Amino acid sequence: MVAGLGQPPFRASQLSRHYFGRYTDRAEEMSDLPRAAREPLAQALLPRLLTAERELSCDGGTTRKTLWRTFDGALVESVLMRYPDRVTMCVSSQAGCGMACPFCATGQAGLTRNLSAAEIVAQVVAGARLLADGQIPGGPGRVSNVVFMGMGEPLANYNAVLAAVRRLTDPVPEGMGISQRSVTVSTVGLVPAIARLAAERLSVTLAVSLHAPDDELRDTLVPVNRRWKVAEVLASAWNYAAATGRRVSIEYALIRDINDHAWRADLLGSLLSGRLAHVNLIPLNPTPGSKWTASRPAAQREFVRRLEAHGVPVTVRDTRGREIDGACGQLAASARPPVPAGR
Ligand code: SAH
Repeated sequence: MVAGLGQPPFRASQLSRHYFGRYTDRAEEMSDLPRAAREPLAQALLPRLLTAERELSCDGGTTRKTLWRTFDGALVESVLMRYPDRVTMCVSSQAGCGMACPFCATGQAGLTRNLSAAEIVAQVVAGARLLADGQIPGGPGRVSNVVFMGMGEPLANYNAVLAAVRRLTDPVPEGMGISQRSVTVSTVGLVPAIARLAAERLSVTLAVSLHAPDDELRDTLVPVNRRWKVAEVLASAWNYAAATGRRVSIEYALIRDINDHAWRADLLGSLLSGRLAHVNLIPLNPTPGSKWTASRPAAQREFVRRLEAHGVPVTVRDTRGREIDGACGQLAASARPPVPAGR
């Protein structure tokens, strides 16, 4: 494309270094390009894909959520979370989501469209730029981790997500040079796509949103379970672990009196015992109008205790960004008219 624009092909690598290595798409910052070529090259090859519609921050500025508007008006969210030892970018892979999980704000709004690889990468580049510029408290920094836990089902947008993972993890100038091990792809459990991902020979971490150890409940909490059952989803997760050597993360949103029973903890523990897996418990972040809420502290403690008794490693996710609608489509939902009841 660069040659087609009448420029020597090596300018492609210069542009890539600006974008992936210096996080800029601004012609005026590309001083190694001839002045007359900067603007046409930047405009043609690095068009602005996302426009910040709203920015919210909390935790003293170390959690920062952005609502983006795409060129065609779709809304997506990303969140930057800075911790003492790392910076995680949570990115969206789709505008909306077609998986219809009833506790998830994005799931309730339905799917608008897939994001392109470039729209996914642009969310991370934006965070990297803020960090490099020292705009996040804690001094200049880098994005160390990327989690596909924003809006959308990444494995339902497989090609774009895979292309994005390569751009994020290839070294500059081909990509941003983030370690594959620090990238997590989170899925509702699309079994054929998990198998395909396992065959890619990447070392990205797989997270499986289980939320229930039994098919009866999971059929309602994660409707795609009607197609691929708990046993099939877990079998594909263990294949992924065997193929990659990577520990699989089992995501489990604890919902009061719905999935937080002691017997379900025991069943989950027996399914995971001896496997290359750990459980990430997520206190439910209630969506507006939801009848569900987070588990009582005692139920959560007992759930953890029982999993540990089965020898299963457990972490409870911290609940950063709650006060800025940090979870899962809530900001985009608040920018839209409310969803009609009965969906
Ligand atoms: N579609 C992917 C990524 C989406 S969100 C997936 O399902 O894995 C990342 C995680 O947040 C998923 O485990 C999802 O089930 C969970 N989640 C969604 N809404 C939530 C809520 N209101 N409270 C807690 N966790 C939620």
